[in-house]
Amino acid sequence: MSQSIAVIKGDGIGPEIMDATLRVLDALDCGLTYQHIDAGLGALEKHGTLIPQESLDAIEKYGIALKGPLTTPIGKGFSSINVQLRRHFDLYANVRPAISFPGTKSRYDDIDMITVRENTEGAYLSDGQEMIDDGNTGISVIKVTRKGSERIVRYAFELAKNNGRKKVTAVHKANIIKTSSGLFLDVAREIAKEYPEIEFQEMIVDNACMQLVMNPHQFDVVVTTNLFGDILSDLCAGLVGGLGLAPGANIGEKAAIFEAVHGSAPDIEGKNIANPCALLLAAAQMLDHLGMNEKGDAIRQGIRSVLETRRDMVTPDMGGTGSTDSFAQALVEYV
Ligand code: NAD
Repeated sequence: MSQSIAVIKGDGIGPEIMDATLRVLDALDCGLTYQHIDAGLGALEKHGTLIPQESLDAIEKYGIALKGPLTTPIGKGFSSINVQLRRHFDLYANVRPAISFPGTKSRYDDIDMITVRENTEGAYLSDGQEMIDDGNTGISVIKVTRKGSERIVRYAFELAKNNGRKKVTAVHKANIIKTSSGLFLDVAREIAKEYPEIEFQEMIVDNACMQLVMNPHQFDVVVTTNLFGDILSDLCAGLVGGLGLAPGANIGEKAAIFEAVHGSAPDIEGKNIANPCALLLAAAQMLDHLGMNEKGDAIRQGIRSVLETRRDMVTPDMGGTGSTDSFAQALVEYV
């Protein structure tokens, strides 16, 4: 049966890495039909808005979107489209795997962990809500709810259970931020009791940063609130060789959006040297989400193999002598 997905090519290098990704998906014969929709700078020129209603409607209709990076124009009046999409579709779980790949500049081998970040509350409330600012004092509010904490912690445990993962670590600062981070930790402890087969660990965020740098192999699934998750997931991306290999999924009850973590890289736009791996790994996450785990694994295995054996086909940021096109071609030949 064919599954339709909404595709946002994106700005800057977005179209180049999206073309490469769709070539690989086609070669895998996933039975996907692509509904191309506008968002970002292209949509602004065509429709006068960064994210037209018809694009939102399409994401709602198909429930799945694969998204290239979008440029947020500098200046007042433009809020991040990514934040808008998260809010509009209540995409509460930001799921960011960090996996080691061969031939990448990184301190560790064999890292395989996932950060599950709460994506809708914490310190990231909607514009204007979060601050009292009289020019001398700024006060930001952190909002943590029982419902929000329950669903993100349960998501992390279900992810662990369904993927044969053994341990969930809840990262917090309950010793200092007692009301909000304390509530998150209380809820995490309660939910953990529902999953006796999965080891539960709790860790204060500053210790978690040190442990991630010193001994990252102890982590499996990390679940945490919005701000800590934002920071920790970039730390984890750094552990496995940087943003070129960092994908992310934004998952809600009714929609899920899969994307690369990096931006639109306008400095290398149109040069055919953009690394397509992060978006490809996001596509692999999308295939897992659609129940096509074997196809997702084929992408991950393909990237591993090409990085190991076809340096001539790999993009320069990974130390190769190839291009976006040749990287995609090598993957098409692999899968
Ligand atoms: P960036 O991630 O676009 O680029 C940072 C550096 O990394 C650049 O030197 C770039 O050339 C390099 N780089 C990024 N992706 C690469 C790839 N796939 N292959 C090779 N090199 C790559 O960050 P930025 O320059 O701060 O942001 C540019 C624009 O992207 C801004 O408008 C920002 O708002 C937007 N942005 C969008 C998203 C998103 O849509 N998810 C995320 C971050 C930034």
